[in-house]
Amino acid sequence: MARSGSESQSVPAEVDVAVVGAGFSGLYLIYRLRELGFSVVAFDEADDVGGTWYWNRYPGARCDIPTTDYAYSFDPQLEQDWTWSEKYATQPEILAYLSHVADRYDLRPDIRFGTRITAAVWDEVGRKWQLRTSHDDEMRCRYYVMASGCLSHPKTPDIEGAGRYRGEVYLTGMWPHDRVDFSGKKVAVVGTGSSGIQCIPLIAREAAELTVFQRTPNFSVPARNGAPPPDRLAQLAEDRGGYREAARWSRGGIPVEPTDVSGVTAPADVRRQRFEDAWQVGELYAILGVFNDQGLNPVSNEFVAEMIREKIRANVSDPETADALCPKDHPFGTKRPCLDSGYFETFNLPHVRLVDLRRTPIVAITETGIDTAAESMAFDAIVFATGFDAMTGPLVSVDITGANGLTLKEKWADGPATYLGLMTTGFPNLFMITGPQSPSVLSNMVVSIEQHVDWVADCLRRLRAEDLDRIEPTPLAEAGWVQHNQDCADITLYPRANSWYMGANVPGKPRVFLPYIGGVDGYRRACQEVAENGLIGFRLDGPAGARCNDGVVRRIQPDVAIVLDMMASLGLPPMETMNVADARALAEATAASMPPGPAVGEITDAVLPGPAGDLSYRLYRPPSTGPHPLIAYFHGGGWVLGSHQSDGAFCRDLCVRTGAVVVSVNYRHAPEDRFPAAVDDAFAAVRWIAANAASLGGIPGQLAVAGWSAGGNLAAVTCQLARDAGGPAISGQLLLTAVTDSDLRRSSYAENGEGFVLTADLMRWFWEHYADEADRAHPTASPLRGTLAGLPPAVVVTAEFDPLRDEGDAYAEALAAAGVPVRQVRARGHIHTSLTMVDAVISGAPVRAQMAEALNSVWLAPVRA
Ligand SMILES: Cc1cc2nc3c(=O)[nH]c(=O)nc-3n(C[C@H](O)[C@H](O)[C@H](O)COP(=O)(O)OP(=O)(O)OC[C@H]3O[C@@H](n4cnc5c(N)ncnc54)[C@H](O)[C@@H]3O)c2cc1C
Repeated sequence: MARSGSESQSVPAEVDVAVVGAGFSGLYLIYRLRELGFSVVAFDEADDVGGTWYWNRYPGARCDIPTTDYAYSFDPQLEQDWTWSEKYATQPEILAYLSHVADRYDLRPDIRFGTRITAAVWDEVGRKWQLRTSHDDEMRCRYYVMASGCLSHPKTPDIEGAGRYRGEVYLTGMWPHDRVDFSGKKVAVVGTGSSGIQCIPLIAREAAELTVFQRTPNFSVPARNGAPPPDRLAQLAEDRGGYREAARWSRGGIPVEPTDVSGVTAPADVRRQRFEDAWQVGELYAILGVFNDQGLNPVSNEFVAEMIREKIRANVSDPETADALCPKDHPFGTKRPCLDSGYFETFNLPHVRLVDLRRTPIVAITETGIDTAAESMAFDAIVFATGFDAMTGPLVSVDITGANGLTLKEKWADGPATYLGLMTTGFPNLFMITGPQSPSVLSNMVVSIEQHVDWVADCLRRLRAEDLDRIEPTPLAEAGWVQHNQDCADITLYPRANSWYMGANVPGKPRVFLPYIGGVDGYRRACQEVAENGLIGFRLDGPAGARCNDGVVRRIQPDVAIVLDMMASLGLPPMETMNVADARALAEATAASMPPGPAVGEITDAVLPGPAGDLSYRLYRPPSTGPHPLIAYFHGGGWVLGSHQSDGAFCRDLCVRTGAVVVSVNYRHAPEDRFPAAVDDAFAAVRWIAANAASLGGIPGQLAVAGWSAGGNLAAVTCQLARDAGGPAISGQLLLTAVTDSDLRRSSYAENGEGFVLTADLMRWFWEHYADEADRAHPTASPLRGTLAGLPPAVVVTAEFDPLRDEGDAYAEALAAAGVPVRQVRARGHIHTSLTMVDAVISGAPVRAQMAEALNSVWLAPVRA
């Protein structure tokens, strides 16, 4: 048995599980694992329990999640026995709580304090981790859990001369245990993130002079601290279990009802009222939830941001200082907003001064103080509130070497890659609590910590029960989760900020969005799904043998998944069970509820002559001066639904992105007018548009046809008819998730035939309404069966979760084989209907950008050249 310090502090030679950290995570881990009969030892550099709350003892340190929620929920008796004195407790009170937890469950004997884990190496033969401590002790463990915190690796100031200063120096994240007295002193605080904003008002009360050095102003909201919120206390008293369960399945780990009010569409008075109400609450979740789209839509976000700036200007008397304190370089919420008690008002005190480092940067720290580009200042004490190397810092600061000899730091050189934020490929049996790519810092962390610890504990119990002793995520599962994380972040405004969420506060750290933004609820669902389905994405091994249920747990784009959930919650009958009139009414109502799409220069309605009477069309003209290229567009709807007006948002988007006049033409619909009525109308319309190009504002000879779904079918067919008829000349075709064949036996029908809006049954219903069985194989119904040589260059867009995906791919391949220039755009994670949901499905925007770029390159490039 290796020894470190006293007998009680000896390090065992081997345990089932070694844990790094004795904060909220480490303590609960010891409790759970011990309960399950695992031998466990935990290590912490600190001399006692508490983690964050051990280290961050600076004046004003408090939680920013109400104490009703920022506490363990695993033992109702613990909850009953502890009473918080305030809505936002001070650091000493939270530390006392964690100490109470350690005593109550007698956790300290399993913790080695004052001990840092410096290195860990995976031994593949013995299937164990070999750990080394800062006291040079070594030990082995089957499972190794990094409960080392997200914000436990303080960032030391990267300022020239930082070591030279001879006065008192404090780092908020490593504050001394004895009270620091600033009375009568000249003090500098460098940094205005959460810690700076919390400590500045208190230091100002003592110091003779306080100078605050600010690089980036932050949004902050009054905490309105006081007694714990009575409404929450009442809810807890009434149904504690229900409240906690609601928190576990909420978006951020606190049970709040999300709003359905959009900042973009709400009237100004409603916007103002909602903001003022949230301002009074003094909670992050209120101010982050004023509008349902403030994290996604820059316009909505700016309403909130500007109203906060108004408050700052109203509270700070000097206009220049107020302006410098107003954040303008990032959308609200994309950096963690702060809760404060009198922060902005502090700058009205005569002995407090703000130095805006964007105007006068720090040049150096000197022996006596700080030199900026404008002046030299002397201080008795400097407080660095410079934040943390968040999330990855504590993990890569340990020399962890995995199964392939690669260290974690090397593996993550370009950013972290994890599966569920819990494990990483190449590092078997290594778990992380609130690791990168888990909700972690975007949530009430205690809820996330409990969920992770429970998942890990259940997993270890299961491995033991199934006689397995090695677990590792597969590369496929990990890559899928990394992609899903990126997809989730990309549809939000978060990546627009240079924040510590992005690693932007640490020089040289890769810019990757670190926490999972899909919500505590969505995340919990994914973890549960993985566990309930044979540990999807994990390779398992042990005496019982090896097995792997490889796969990716989230492949649908996150906003498409939201649409699907929303539609499922409506409980509508399948469209194919409706009569045609009801199906049309439903399609119209759905279209009317969608955002209108971007502004165009002009929209006009008119008619053109068709073979059996006039055909209505709607024309979308770009704002620029014409003439413009022309696109004849055919709407989707299975030849049964829709009209020239129905794909308005998509047509506007197409018009704006391509700079073309888009003419969306109505055609006769089935079942009233069956095949080939729609084909005849479409071809007649294209001929008319070509002949009238100039009067429509188009450039004669620059005509493309485009269509979505059944409209894509008509566009493809029209190109074949025009080629066979010797005109009109069509210079490009855009086929968006188009019907190209009547054979419904392709794999995409089997894979995606249910659950993705356009079902296999609905597609059958459309075909039955449209064309007789005998006609369906005809090239004017199934263009894939036609001759394809000599057709105009094509852009073929297919969606991954569309029953029509494979026939789209087949058409693109067949066109290419026939010598037709083809650009294919594959929409990963999309369904048949999501690409046309402009502004509702944000992840569709890059696909449409790619589509428009491809179209312009295939049909305009030769013309322009
Ligand atoms: C000032 C501040 C206020 C916060 N307020 C809130 C809040 O209101 N709500 C909220 O949800 N979250 C808040 N957080 C986040 C907070 O970190 C978590 O809520 C929570 O305390 C994390 O617990 P943990 O046990 O996972 O990690 P930590 O509390 O960070 O504990 C990790 C421990 O691991 C130890 N450790 C790390 N590496 C090693 C190593 N190699 N060897 C040995 N020991 C090691 C560290 O010494 C540390 O004690 C706040 C963070 C800070 C800094």
